[in-house]
Amino acid sequence: MRYLVVGCGLSGGVVARELAERGEEVTIWDRRDHIGGNMYDYRDPESGYLVQRYGPHTFHTSDKSLYDYMCRFSEWDGYILRCGAVWDGEYTPTPFNFTTIDTFFPEAEAAEIKARVAEVYPGRETVTVVEALGSEDHVIRGYAEYLFEKDYRPYTSKQWGIPPAEIDPSVLKRVPLRMSYGDRYFDDTYQVMPRTTFVDFFRRLLDHPNIAVELGVEALDRLRIEDGRVVVDGMPDVHVVYTGALDELFGFVHGRLPYRSLEFEFRRSDQDSFQPAPVVAYPSDPEVVRITEYKKLPVQEGDGTVYALERSLEYEPGKGLEPYYPVLTEESKAVYEGYRSMAESVDNLSFCGRLADFRYYNMDQALRRALELAATL
Ligand SMILES: Cc1cc2nc3c(=O)[nH]c(=O)nc-3n(C[C@H](O)[C@H](O)[C@H](O)COP(=O)(O)OP(=O)(O)OC[C@H]3O[C@@H](n4cnc5c(N)ncnc54)[C@H](O)[C@@H]3O)c2cc1C
Repeated sequence: MRYLVVGCGLSGGVVARELAERGEEVTIWDRRDHIGGNMYDYRDPESGYLVQRYGPHTFHTSDKSLYDYMCRFSEWDGYILRCGAVWDGEYTPTPFNFTTIDTFFPEAEAAEIKARVAEVYPGRETVTVVEALGSEDHVIRGYAEYLFEKDYRPYTSKQWGIPPAEIDPSVLKRVPLRMSYGDRYFDDTYQVMPRTTFVDFFRRLLDHPNIAVELGVEALDRLRIEDGRVVVDGMPDVHVVYTGALDELFGFVHGRLPYRSLEFEFRRSDQDSFQPAPVVAYPSDPEVVRITEYKKLPVQEGDGTVYALERSLEYEPGKGLEPYYPVLTEESKAVYEGYRSMAESVDNLSFCGRLADFRYYNMDQALRRALELAATL
């Protein structure tokens, strides 16, 4: 038996490595011209700064076994990501914290909000926005409503292209408010960046005599599903691990799965610093969702700076866009279930990854899922 892994991102790379270490022969195809999927990074040819083509990535997890797995293939340095948002000309850290309250409210009002929070949520480091919006305390609710109007409402509708009320609550529920001056973006035990590059991590992950990587290969041109099996040109008796989108794989027979895409516009500047943090959201800008300043992710020394403006738009297949964020609604989940059961009924097909599972996975979640799948093959 031979294995074909479609997709050379974290999910495909990890499944391939696990199979290869068990003595299996694995071919990986990716339609892109590089390894690493959305974690791909490279040196900007003019400035020399390391940038990430598909948006800012920091590896974070509280699961030591996942961190240890990443350490097998790269050295990592601790890096505490700090993010922020700007509106009314003022910068605040995100998740919103006591600095946010001090920045946007007069002193007496700010003191009252912080006092109410301490009383209503004693000992809590974070509270979800949804919880604060539903609070019976009118001061806390007022604070949450202010943030909702200034940030969450414009940001969410720009990011998702739909009114916030229609967004699956699982997306909004995750958003925390900090009940302190703490300004870490993530709370996980391990928060790291590769000492060199994410691509170096992938080079070592894929560096195994049983793994062959072929780039610039569109799998859909070379495989089809016939009589409950995936048939791959030139590969009889193959098991396929698919990490692309299932609606594409099945020719959209149940309709399209909705995704949001992103457009990244890279700019260089002679300024030493463009913004106060590496990743800053601009909720009141009519188009730009957020800007990542790569010089600060993590800190790189040098002249000038490089940053990428991020605009969110609807994903449409065949238009040169990438599907980034699944739009999770009751309807889209039902459509996905149709594809999932089709995929499960194909004998020699397995699937995992953020596209094939139609889930928003952080890297550690994609890694866990890939390891679990590989264990079953
Ligand atoms: C803007 C952004 C920021 C993020 N930041 C973070 C972060 O800070 N921390 C974090 O933990 N996670 C972050 N993530 C999530 C992270 O990118 C994913 O968890 C991870 O990349 C998932 O890997 P994957 O292999 O499942 O998917 P991908 O990286 O998308 O890989 C799938 C690959 O399959 C290929 N493919 C698909 N279909 C086909 C086909 N038919 N033929 C050939 N090839 C195909 C694609 O070209 C792609 O390379 C971020 C995601 C985005 C979009």
